[in-house]
Amino acid sequence: MSAPQAAKLHRRVNLPLPDLDASPVRFVAGLRPKRRGSYRIEAVRQGQKLVIHNYGHGGAGITLCWGCAEEVLDLLRVSGSSTPAMPIAILGAGVMGLTTATFLREAGYLPTLYTSALPVATTSSIAGGPWAPSLVDHDPSPAGQAAFERLLRRSFHAHERRLGQGFGVFRRHLYTPVPSLSLAKLPPGLIPEPEQLEELPFPTVPGPGFRYDTLMIEPPILLARLEQDLREAGVLFESRHFRSAAEVETLPESVVINCTGLGSREIWPDERLHPLKGQLAILPPQPGLDYLFSDQRGYVFPRSDGVVVGGTYTYDEDPTPDPEVGRRLIQEMKRRFGQAPG
Ligand SMILES: Cc1cc2nc3c(=O)[nH]c(=O)nc-3n(C[C@H](O)[C@H](O)[C@H](O)COP(=O)(O)OP(=O)(O)OC[C@H]3O[C@@H](n4cnc5c(N)ncnc54)[C@H](O)[C@@H]3O)c2cc1C
Repeated sequence: MSAPQAAKLHRRVNLPLPDLDASPVRFVAGLRPKRRGSYRIEAVRQGQKLVIHNYGHGGAGITLCWGCAEEVLDLLRVSGSSTPAMPIAILGAGVMGLTTATFLREAGYLPTLYTSALPVATTSSIAGGPWAPSLVDHDPSPAGQAAFERLLRRSFHAHERRLGQGFGVFRRHLYTPVPSLSLAKLPPGLIPEPEQLEELPFPTVPGPGFRYDTLMIEPPILLARLEQDLREAGVLFESRHFRSAAEVETLPESVVINCTGLGSREIWPDERLHPLKGQLAILPPQPGLDYLFSDQRGYVFPRSDGVVVGGTYTYDEDPTPDPEVGRRLIQEMKRRFGQAPG
C-alpha cells in the first residue's frame, strides 16, 4: 500500500468515545513469538520424518494464520512425502496449529494435534485482534517480499470469507492521527487506500487523521470455533509436552508440522526466536463502539468481551500481567481522548 497522499478529505461526524473511566475487567499479558529476520515456514528432514516449521509470527499470528496454513499445505504437497488420507502430527494448538489442522483436514489428511496447552490457554488467546502485520519480520529479498505478500493476500481473503460465519471476523474502520506503519506494508489493492480526514471524528481529539478499512478478528471467538469444528470432525487433541527433537521422533506420524510458537525454542533451539511481551487492559464491553483507534503510543478497540486498550512491547520472558502497566495504558489513552490532563 502506498503512502496515503491521494486520499479524499472528509468532514467530521463525531463518534462515541470509549468509556475509559470504567473499572478494568482484567489485565492480560502474553509473549509474542518474534523471530529476528523472518518468521519461519520451512520443510526440513529430520531422521525418518519430514518436519514443516510454522512459527515466529511476532505480533501478527492472528493476521497471518490462514496464509501460513496454506503455505504449509503447499510445502506438504511438493514434498513427495505425503499421500492422501495420511496421518499428520501437528504440534501446538494456538492459532497456527488450529488453522493448519483445518486446512490439512479439508485437503483430506488426518491431523492430530499434540499440545501442552489447549487453545484457550495459548498466546493466541491473549491477542488483541486488529488485522495488521505488526511486529513481524520478513525476508526483505524480492523472493521474501513476494512470499510475505502472498501470505497477506491469502490470509486476508480467508478471514474475509469467514465474515458473518461465527468466526469472530468483522469489518472495522481504523482511525489514526498518523499513517499506520503496519498497514503500509500491505500489497496494493488488498484493502482500500486510506482516506485522509481533515479532522478525526472525536470531539476531544483535535487534528487531522486517516481512516482505514480493515478487519477485526476476535481471537477468543476464532479459536473456540476452530477447536469446535476440528473436534466435531473427529480431530484428536493429545496432551503432550516435547522437550527435544528426539522426543518428536518417537511420534508415529512420519510428517510433523511444528506450530509451537515461542515453545519451539525448547525443541529446536533457534537463537533468532525471542519473546516480545505485550500487555492489555480489558474494560467492560461497550456495545456502541465499533471502530479501532491507534496512534504511536497505543490502541483501543472494542470486542464483544470488552474494550481492549494496549500497545506495549518489551523484551521480557515473564508473561505475568502487571496491573500498573495496564493502568498506565488506560491513563495514556484518556489523555489521547482528552479525558485526562497532559
Ligand atoms: C498482547 C498481545 C497482543 C497481540 N495482538 C495481536 C493482534 O492484534 N493481531 C495479531 O495478528 N496478532 C497479535 N498478537 C500475536 C499473536 O498472539 C501471536 O503471533 C500468535 O498467537 C502466535 O500463534 P502460535 O500458534 O504460533 O503460538 P501460540 O498461540 O503460543 O501457540 C503455541 C502452541 O504450542 C504449544 N506448545 C508450545 N511449546 C510446546 C511444547 N514444547 N510441546 C508441546 N506443545 C507446545 C502451546 O501449548 C500452544 O498450544 C498479539 C500477541 C500479544 C501477546
